[in-house]
Amino acid sequence: MLTSTKALTRYGMPELEAAMVLWHVPPECQVGAVPRRIYCNKDLVKPLERALRCVVAKGLGDKIRTWDGCFNIRRKRTGSSPSLHSWGLAIDFNASWNQMGQKPTQDPALVECFTANGFDWGGDWKNPDGMHFQRSEFVKQ
Ligand SMILES: [Zn+2]
Repeated sequence: MLTSTKALTRYGMPELEAAMVLWHVPPECQVGAVPRRIYCNKDLVKPLERALRCVVAKGLGDKIRTWDGCFNIRRKRTGSSPSLHSWGLAIDFNASWNQMGQKPTQDPALVECFTANGFDWGGDWKNPDGMHFQRSEFVKQ
């Protein structure tokens, strides 16, 4: 799994925003609550575009009901290390129905679009965080 330690080594302090880009989401990928522009890590763009193309291809756009953020310099809600949101390497959606520590309600096919395209899903964790998807360690570029 991609850790905050690895992210720090790779991208430096989050406050530098060294790897951040304003990604203009292709119009055909602007489904559900997905914004037109996402300020995120440059290394999140390709996995996210692939995941969203999968969402579109499978007709699951309406399953992304709320977009709950990407870049946010903060610590993990559990523990003291920085969240991968601090480097724009994670996204949250459908937060209201997928709170941390509760049983996730994300559509399994929707989750599959992300996990098959370079994301780890927080819903798989021991303390589930169903809203949360973060870039996995190894992604084909
Ligand atoms: Zn998150």
